[in-house]
Amino acid sequence: MARIRLDHIRHAYSPDLARVGNYALREVDHAFEDGGAYALLGPSGCGKTTLLNIISGLLTPSEGHVRFDDTDVTLLSPEARNIAQVFQFPVIYDTMTVRENLAFPLKNRKVAKDEIKRRVDDMLVRIGLEAKADRKAQGLTADEKQKISLGRGLVRPDVNAILFDEPLTVIDPHMKWQLRSQLKELHRQFKMTMVYVTHDQTEALTFADKVVVMYDGEVVQIGTPEELFERPKHTFVGYFIGSPGMNVLSCEVDGTDALVSGVRIALPGGARPMGSAKKTELGIRPEFVQIVPRGQGMPVAITRVEDIGSERIVRADFQGQKLVSVVKEGASLPSEVDVVFEPQALNLYADSWLVEGRAA
Ligand code: ATP
Repeated sequence: MARIRLDHIRHAYSPDLARVGNYALREVDHAFEDGGAYALLGPSGCGKTTLLNIISGLLTPSEGHVRFDDTDVTLLSPEARNIAQVFQFPVIYDTMTVRENLAFPLKNRKVAKDEIKRRVDDMLVRIGLEAKADRKAQGLTADEKQKISLGRGLVRPDVNAILFDEPLTVIDPHMKWQLRSQLKELHRQFKMTMVYVTHDQTEALTFADKVVVMYDGEVVQIGTPEELFERPKHTFVGYFIGSPGMNVLSCEVDGTDALVSGVRIALPGGARPMGSAKKTELGIRPEFVQIVPRGQGMPVAITRVEDIGSERIVRADFQGQKLVSVVKEGASLPSEVDVVFEPQALNLYADSWLVEGRAA
């Protein structure tokens, strides 16, 4: 297992694209700690697969270095990096049995026969396929095949990291949850560095200890699910994580207050260093926008209420800007209401990036 260091990585798919500044990865300078479970999360085209392929060695970055612990592996092939990969579609041998598929990477590495048997028997139990050990892989379901792919990575004693590229895409929705919890359990048992690419926030937030949010060729935040929810470092993270996403209101900053169309809102943590920001915005999650009786807060006009079972999503107009609040089912909702923003949940953004207060 290894710590994976991405040292000032940039990547353009051709010299011509680099010349016009069209980089699939603009600058990535981060580390994945040994034994961590990371998810790379972001919308289509933000560079997740490019980054994963640079870690595995399928791609050589245009600039920068990849290090596994102290070894520079930038120019090493995927085989030489001892990386296991699980792709969208299971990569297994259909004509081999489940047992033979699991033994294959060990045979290739000339592991002793009884060690192979011991490891394969153990893995069959861990991935829950011991009853199907001697069945040919071709008759198995997609999720069983994906478990074999996973087992083939985990069965090796020498693996530095295991990389997943949208591994649940072809799995039935009701099996996804089961496979995801099994994966998390296997991570707990093996403590292997895992990097998991997905554009599905539920998958990322349930699998990973740390989620790496990517946007437009950059890592915009690495954090625990709580950090991403409570303190989005970039307005994109606020919008992308959570459902509905964070409210982002255009504002001006006056000393220790934010002004939304003249409505004054005190900022926790006092004055912020705004520099020469062209755009200033206030972020507040819908869960922290309280609906209160008229006269007790700031006036809004409700435009729509959606019932989603245990909660209601209230959409409103606040000073000409859209505002969303989430309220518990059963809470009173008079026709004339005000809103109150929970002060500790206010985030201020300068040119889309979070500006920290003194004592947030
Ligand atoms: P998805 O979720 O759709 O797979 P992604 O976040 O994994 O997206 P990448 O596949 O890494 O994103 O793509 C990042 C950018 O690089 C995109 O603009 C894409 O069009 C471009 N790109 C990807 N592969 C190539 C390629 N082989 N040649 C040229 N451009 C490419």
